[in-house]
Amino acid sequence: MNLNEYRTSGKYLEYLHVQYIGILEFMTSLIANMKKTNADFSKCMIIFDIDETCIANTQSTFRGKSFYKKSIPGALSLFNYVRKAGFKIAFISARDVSALQFSAQQLAELGFRGYSYIFHQDRKKEPDSNNWKRKVRKHLSGQYKIVASIGDQIGDIDTNCDYGFLLFNPFYKV
Ligand SMILES: [Mg+2]
Repeated sequence: MNLNEYRTSGKYLEYLHVQYIGILEFMTSLIANMKKTNADFSKCMIIFDIDETCIANTQSTFRGKSFYKKSIPGALSLFNYVRKAGFKIAFISARDVSALQFSAQQLAELGFRGYSYIFHQDRKKEPDSNNWKRKVRKHLSGQYKIVASIGDQIGDIDTNCDYGFLLFNPFYKV
């Protein structure tokens, strides 16, 4: 199997699914513990990245012709699970700010509904995606307790969240 086949045959998505099963298990325990302490879920937030986290997008950009447009297996289940538990949900994606409407529509079509915020990067002002994501989390952490952040790049998960889940992405680093 060549590397492109690994990406497109479903093997890559299968492994992401396995990771999501683990995250869901972890969050199930965490939520049970939070309920015991009467946590206010509306003041708690879960953050998701978009590309290679909720949507398989390794083959193209948002204007690309060979657009995958496929949700990552397990992502929507986790999204709905934490939303129903009462968490606020934010998407922080390094897609350019010009793609905001496109992303909102794409997420809705794939079933990701009921989130509170979506942030896209203004690449002219903020060229470094990892640093920009950290800044957005820092800003949100003034208002919410960020319980978990899920993404495929280090800047998605390394600061300002109680638990960071870094998904397998051997294809690119930003
Ligand atoms: Mg990503």
